[in-house]
Amino acid sequence: MQPNYQQIECKSFLHRISNKFLPFNWGANPYRGCEHSCPYCFARYTHEYLGYNKDAEFNNKILVKMNAAEVLEKELSRKTWKNESVDLGSVCDPYQPAEKKFEITRQILKVFAKHRTPLFVGTKSNLILRDIDLLSEMAKTSNLMVNITLTTLDENICKMIEPRASSASERLDAIRQLSDAGVNVGVLFMPLFPYLTDSVGSINQTIKAVRDAGAKDLIPGVLELRSSCKEGVLFLIKKESPRLYSRYLTLYKKASVPKEYSGRIYRIVELVRKKYNIERFELPKRPIEKQMSFKIPEKKKPKRVDLGL
Ligand code: SF4
Repeated sequence: MQPNYQQIECKSFLHRISNKFLPFNWGANPYRGCEHSCPYCFARYTHEYLGYNKDAEFNNKILVKMNAAEVLEKELSRKTWKNESVDLGSVCDPYQPAEKKFEITRQILKVFAKHRTPLFVGTKSNLILRDIDLLSEMAKTSNLMVNITLTTLDENICKMIEPRASSASERLDAIRQLSDAGVNVGVLFMPLFPYLTDSVGSINQTIKAVRDAGAKDLIPGVLELRSSCKEGVLFLIKKESPRLYSRYLTLYKKASVPKEYSGRIYRIVELVRKKYNIERFELPKRPIEKQMSFKIPEKKKPKRVDLGL
């Protein structure tokens, strides 16, 4: 289905995130809705606030914040702004296919770069490589961490659970290229799907591959089925892996799996992480030196990025 882009003007851009377990205090989203269409996405409910449904419309009705860079510039210029950390893509992927057309994420990256905002960027798309020039410059002058989601090297499973995101090999390549360009890259090793991506072999193979590609951190998480996505994921399992359906019904009596199950998975991940020497990584505290100026690189002729669409 063709995406339906709706261009909007936002009044504010940054939103407060109050969670002491997260390393950022603010979230930023150039788009509402997400074409990557992951059935497990629990941000789906946010589309209902806008009067749309959380299923097909979340995947295809994409709101584009055309004035995001302008509004962000005002927010970061306020005297009250304390230069706290921001998560770019806290709700919806900033490098979803719409970005290829609108380039809102690139515009706002330049604003964050100018203000040296400590920044986390999360994505499942290798479209991020289009901005490698900007990101590698930002990595020299401010605190920057790019987090790429990758839970399996099995392309069929990848396509099943994240149908319109980049393939596993494209994401691995993005981790490698960004790391080689001096950007700190972490891996969101989530959500691990029970009985699909949770075997010791798969965990071992994936962690080794991301370590070899240069990932500095790895944050695991087992699939949760909140009400906004439970029906969609169970439908998918029934259709694509019917032999697992009754096991999922048993495991997901609640939104989270039983602690015995998740505890076992986290112990395996921890052992494998240690085996491959991936320590818990913390961004170094970099003092903001006002005299250092950030030079926005000239936009090069973009490299051809195959989104696999
Ligand atoms: S990429 Fe992220 S925001 Fe987009 S559908 Fe998937 S989980 Fe949701």
